[in-house]
Amino acid sequence: MSINAIKDISERIVKAGRELHDRGLVRGTSGNLSAKIPGTDTFLIKPSGRRMENLKPEELVLVDLQGNKIRGETSVSVETPIHAAIYRARKDVQAVVHTHAPTATAFGIAKTEILPLQIELFMLLPNGVPVVPFKAPGSKALADAVQKKVTNYDAVILENHGIVTVGSTIEAACSLNEMVEEGAKIQFLVMMLAGQDVINLAELKKKFKT
Ligand SMILES: [Zn+2]
Repeated sequence: MSINAIKDISERIVKAGRELHDRGLVRGTSGNLSAKIPGTDTFLIKPSGRRMENLKPEELVLVDLQGNKIRGETSVSVETPIHAAIYRARKDVQAVVHTHAPTATAFGIAKTEILPLQIELFMLLPNGVPVVPFKAPGSKALADAVQKKVTNYDAVILENHGIVTVGSTIEAACSLNEMVEEGAKIQFLVMMLAGQDVINLAELKKKFKT
């Protein structure tokens, strides 16, 4: 494991965390993010109880794919089991981002999936963003439920909690988190303007594939 690889990933995680804060996707100490160290079975994750906007690279915690801490002065994020479970299930995933993005979180409370109504979101998430039923934060049950869903989806909503997105880079996972929040805002506006009946995934797929 090269020192340079860890330094590069650490700096990119910290920058991504600041951007999540600046874009209003995280507030207070909520949310967490992680990225794998290329070529290893380890990842760096935000420590527990720290704010995204003033995170420092040296505060990130190095963890193995079982969620055990390998290196770091701070304690790992409470949602580390979700991150570890996703990396175990998806070899293509290099980064995981969890936020309490407000509009998308509201969809989870309303038990309503976010559908890719807009063409750009459809290209990224053709099957939309499903809701994972509520399980206690930090629990194995939640990690297992997310792992199962993420096998088929790059973004999921945690009922009464927040959202999780994955990507091949930390930047891609953060961008997808932002796109999901934007998609939720658009869907909310459509529902206000035209009601729930105009939203139909089968029809959308037909329209966008022609
Ligand atoms: Zn959370």
